[in-house]
Amino acid sequence: MEEITYTCRGPRVSEDSAERAGCGLDITELVQAVEVDGETHEIECPRCGNVATVTRTPED
Ligand SMILES: [Zn+2]
Repeated sequence: MEEITYTCRGPRVSEDSAERAGCGLDITELVQAVEVDGETHEIECPRCGNVATVTRTPED
């Protein structure tokens, strides 16, 4: 089985900045807890509060 890990990239250091604070927390479990329904879900990093969107599309 293919293992994919997800890491929090941290919040943007300022608005309109491509730079991120680089939290680095392993959020793989949070991503894997998202329903595989093709919808976009938001997950919030418990450490830095950065919100990431995750879409898991069912294969078939
Ligand atoms: Zn974070």
